[in-house]
Amino acid sequence: MSPHFATERAQQQLLALLKIPGLSGEEMAVADHIEKVLRAAGCKPAWLRRMPAQPPLPPKFGMGNLVVQLPGTLAAPCRMFLAHLDTVPLCRGAVPVVRDGRIVARGHTALGGDNRAGVAALVAVAEAILKHKLPHPPLTFLFTVGEEVGLYGAKSVQPTDVGDPAMAFNFDSGRPEEIITGAIGAQRWRAELHGISSHAGMHPERGASAILIASRALAEVADRGWFGKIQKGSKSGTSNAGIIHGGEATNQVTHHVVVRGESRSHDPVFTRRITEAYLLAFERAARRVRTCDGEHGRVEFFSENDYQPFRLKDRAPIVRFTRQIAGELGLATKCVAINGGLDANPLNEAGIPTVTLGVGAHHPHAYDEYVDLAEFATGCRLTLALATAR
Ligand SMILES: [Zn+2]
Repeated sequence: MSPHFATERAQQQLLALLKIPGLSGEEMAVADHIEKVLRAAGCKPAWLRRMPAQPPLPPKFGMGNLVVQLPGTLAAPCRMFLAHLDTVPLCRGAVPVVRDGRIVARGHTALGGDNRAGVAALVAVAEAILKHKLPHPPLTFLFTVGEEVGLYGAKSVQPTDVGDPAMAFNFDSGRPEEIITGAIGAQRWRAELHGISSHAGMHPERGASAILIASRALAEVADRGWFGKIQKGSKSGTSNAGIIHGGEATNQVTHHVVVRGESRSHDPVFTRRITEAYLLAFERAARRVRTCDGEHGRVEFFSENDYQPFRLKDRAPIVRFTRQIAGELGLATKCVAINGGLDANPLNEAGIPTVTLGVGAHHPHAYDEYVDLAEFATGCRLTLALATAR
């Protein structure tokens, strides 16, 4: 272990951070705490910056990302370390307690180890570097906002705002041995289904039901194998219709229904094909649902890329560097690709090669969420080694 790295201090930091509420859009108190700790360790005010809360962040966000840039004492390209500040609503009111080598939530809440474990590792490492004046290349510590509701902080990053890093390390996972080098891409879509209204008891034949259009379309999507887990030849992905609302009265043939959903795949062309399967099914169903006069419903369909997939090659400099440094710490690493979106997606899309590493956070977004303290300590040592390696 590095003589400059106190595991106990990092754990204290983690407990302190877990106690601070900070749902998406409400990350200010967490950022205040980080600034206070880093200033006390010798961080100059000019090295700290809060980015403005402006689009693409949603309205009502209290702040943008917190960026901490430490000028290098070694001549080498800039390295960036990032973790998201926000936790999910299930963590509201969480009280962390240490139990059997883990931190768990005492009451009936999630813990928020996703992602305060990542935040704590970054704060502890930055603090150690500042306090002990450890030699390092130019370093950027990026604390993102709004990850849980759409990777908003990461989507707002301009490489020049964060020191044009040659590589970035995102801390937002469990086992330190696992290097996430690939993640899925996703589209979101929304279908506005317009039927034709009529009295459902007196003249149902004069109506065209938007609820019937939605039902038939979704049944068709499922029958054709495009709902849920999708496998078409060598191509795979997932889809979901997650939100549906519409209807005003039981005695009225429904004239408007909105269905919202998503499509995911590691192959962006296939992601679009999944979305298209929904569009075509809604259009076919709308043409089939008719009034007695032959009038039929119609569809307005909107889709957008949520985030792009990425897959870093095993020989990419960042992957080789990470494996080498982890190997020196005795970690037997393996590269994995996952089916969830990460802050690493928009950063890789912006041209900053980014891997995601674990700091002991397990079972995110669940009541049995916990942080494994041994893994957290290992994750912190790996972070320090990556930040200070020549
Ligand atoms: Zn997370």
